[in-house]
Amino acid sequence: MQPMNIRLDFIDIHYSCPVCGFDKLTEMPRDFAICPCCGTEFGNDDYDRSHEQLREEWLRAGAHWFNEYEPPSLEWNPALQLWKAGFTDPKITVANTSSYKASSENSDGSSWPFSTRLIAA
Ligand SMILES: [Zn+2]
Repeated sequence: MQPMNIRLDFIDIHYSCPVCGFDKLTEMPRDFAICPCCGTEFGNDDYDRSHEQLREEWLRAGAHWFNEYEPPSLEWNPALQLWKAGFTDPKITVANTSSYKASSENSDGSSWPFSTRLIAA
């Protein structure tokens, strides 16, 4: 019987950010890993603030992409990202404006129900 040879290097493992819902973190959200999307430094920023608080702060600041050296994909949409992650918060209003384009411009041809701008009420 041949020894089992398991290759793990081709498996693309991603983690999800508990603050902004970005689902392509390459490191676990801990031990000073920094989310390129919302800029949360895990173990530091979330030491004395909850993920909900950090999310609200990120939203209030305009929900901008954090890491300029690691830009988001063209179809990146913070509202959609939050929605997919299940972060629906009554304090978050998804307004129907053109700041971020989502509908009918998704790469998979799908049409999401909104084009969005995030407003933390
Ligand atoms: Zn994040």
